[in-house]
Amino acid sequence: MSTFRFKSVEEASGRKPVEVKLPDTDVRKYYAKNVFNRQKMFEYLPDAVFKELVEAIDNKRPINRMTADAVAEGMRRWAIENGARHYTHWFHPLTDGTAEKHDSFIEHDGKGGVIENFSGKLLVQQEPDASSFPNGGLRNTFEARGYSAWDISSPAFILNNTLCIPTIFISYTGESLDYKTPLLRALNSVDKAAVRVARYFDPEVKHVNSFLGWEQEYFLIDEALYSARPDLMLTGRTLMGHESAKNQQLEDHYFGAIPKRVEAFMLELEYEAHKLGIPIKTRHNEVAPNQFELAPIYEETNLANDHNLLIMSLMSEVASRHNFRVLLHEKPFDGVNGSGKHNNWSLGTDKGTLLFSPGKTKEQNLQFIVFVANVMAAVHRHNALLKASIMSATNAHRLGGNEAPPAIISMFLGQQLTEIFEKLEANESNINFSPGDGMDLNVAQIPALMLDNTDRNRTSPFAFTGNRFEFRAVGSSANCASAMIALNAAVASQLNQFADIVDKRIGDGEDLHSVILDEVRILLKKSRDIRFDGNGYSEDWTKEAARRGLDTQTSAPLMFDAYLSADSIQMFEETGVFSKVELYARNEVKWEMYTKKIQIEARVLGDLAINHIIPAATRYQSLLLDNVYKIKNLFPEAKAHDIAAQDMKGIEVIAHHISEIRLLVDTLIESRKVSNRLTSEREKAISYHDNVCPLMDRIRYHIDKLELMVDNEIWPLPKYREMLFIR
Ligand code: ADP
Ligand code: MG
Repeated sequence: MSTFRFKSVEEASGRKPVEVKLPDTDVRKYYAKNVFNRQKMFEYLPDAVFKELVEAIDNKRPINRMTADAVAEGMRRWAIENGARHYTHWFHPLTDGTAEKHDSFIEHDGKGGVIENFSGKLLVQQEPDASSFPNGGLRNTFEARGYSAWDISSPAFILNNTLCIPTIFISYTGESLDYKTPLLRALNSVDKAAVRVARYFDPEVKHVNSFLGWEQEYFLIDEALYSARPDLMLTGRTLMGHESAKNQQLEDHYFGAIPKRVEAFMLELEYEAHKLGIPIKTRHNEVAPNQFELAPIYEETNLANDHNLLIMSLMSEVASRHNFRVLLHEKPFDGVNGSGKHNNWSLGTDKGTLLFSPGKTKEQNLQFIVFVANVMAAVHRHNALLKASIMSATNAHRLGGNEAPPAIISMFLGQQLTEIFEKLEANESNINFSPGDGMDLNVAQIPALMLDNTDRNRTSPFAFTGNRFEFRAVGSSANCASAMIALNAAVASQLNQFADIVDKRIGDGEDLHSVILDEVRILLKKSRDIRFDGNGYSEDWTKEAARRGLDTQTSAPLMFDAYLSADSIQMFEETGVFSKVELYARNEVKWEMYTKKIQIEARVLGDLAINHIIPAATRYQSLLLDNVYKIKNLFPEAKAHDIAAQDMKGIEVIAHHISEIRLLVDTLIESRKVSNRLTSEREKAISYHDNVCPLMDRIRYHIDKLELMVDNEIWPLPKYREMLFIR
């Protein structure tokens, strides 16, 4: 009898919520307590240094060595006063998650003792021996040096008594080895390009910032049950498991009451997040059982992304104190919804104008239309790239499934905006949306209220939602930077093109507003095919999208090719976000990661099938055989035949599944061997996708059938119905 099941279920259901003690003060007292933000800078830095640093951050320029020394000194003092003993450069290599290597503050004092020290040199730049991070061949092992360099735009923070300094990570020869470097480049390029266009409407604009508000979905599962599932532990998802009779069909979980144990977890998570200055605001149940979501108030994209990475590690930490495990995998359980991470994205000027927000004056509305039209053009032109930016071995399970956005990027604008665009496109002379607000000078008057997003299309991967776009195809475990790099760079490139043409035409003496409207019309016409307000899950849409020339590729390794198309390379080079060398190297990493993830899954599945499932099925089969044997001994032959008929059939069916599993596992191993012999990372990934993945599905099919037949007490793994309902 499997003891774990009864023990775990008992534990899982009998567990009381862990009591959370929050300080008895209001959130303002501890919010950002562990962040070296401007208030702390002001307190701990000499006046001149504070001014210099703030100035550098605001104007996006580097600081000099003397300033760095002074900042390091203040930062160290603050950190030590707040319990830190170590410091680390915190960076985002091309793996999932973040990396850190801790050093303590101590240095020899020259007299046989130590002093606590932290110089500007150590703050600003380090040389981690990071040769084993993925780099796609950019560094061979004898040139293993990589540099991490302080990103002054994201404040340092204290986590687990360690001062963490957000840094970029680049190779000795200057190629990016992380997500942050290209993200900063992309943000910089969209800043410059958007400023050019925003100045047509307000010449005073100095900067345009990109904003990100992510919505993080996740599953929780009781730790005891998690520990009894090697597949969850090693791959983040269940590789087998029959659907529970009840899962989400009653739609009773979404926005339902949050279970007490989970609420305690959320409360503590929010407290920890707030201490780190992460403005968590929203929490609710999601569609699937045990699925939840949290979202912050949006922030500048680079900071928001740091905060998302930070919250993902905080979640695991806090969960373990509540006897939970957090599953960030996009599809931990078959048959119920997977998890995404909607990226709400917008642009705004340093003067506080949100550029995707319709305004009150005709100038503001024209500006709004110009920016939305340019986003549309960029998403149209780079739809394949945007899809590649969110694709991974894990997100592949979610996209294209009957729940999440399809594996086609299209754009939802809503009825009103669509109407406006259609009229603009048709060059109608009067666009009149509410009585009295007619068109003046051929410029649409759009009352602010009008675009309140009432009709949102949940099947759209990229939707306009009132004052922002929601890029919904991003996976729950992803680093948002990947999507944000592609999107901001693509939009930057498009805005530059737009500004080039407009500049040229007004240089030739044409009228600014007519030129802008004219060019908007051209964009709208050219990119009309990206607009789709219908049901993204329907089969017709796949056909229609292909007819429109949108990318409908469903194989992840082939989607990655979009990064290396002539158009993508040109766009990334022109915006300064990636060099061709970087793009090629990164694709090697993408293919390699894809292969490795599937390889691990295939191995785990094979092991479980042979070591867990087949032995259990055989034991049950032998119980049945025993039974039949006894029946035959006891009853006359004809009668025995009748009585034992069902068991005999069961024995045969089990034997069939067992033999299929054995055969398929052998084929799976063989198929891996064949794939592994391929030397090109791309070919290898394609082979894993085409040959290994389908075998895994077939093995799972037989295992799930066995789960339905075999004695519950013998079945060696916790079942969906046990894992999916936290009480
Ligand atoms: P919903 O689930 O209805 O989309 P949520 O409240 O869960 O709404 O999440 C909305 C997210 O959008 C939040 O993270 C919020 O901060 C973000 N957001 C709102 N306005 C903007 C904006 N202008 N730019 C970027 N993000 C935004
Ligand atoms: Mg949303």
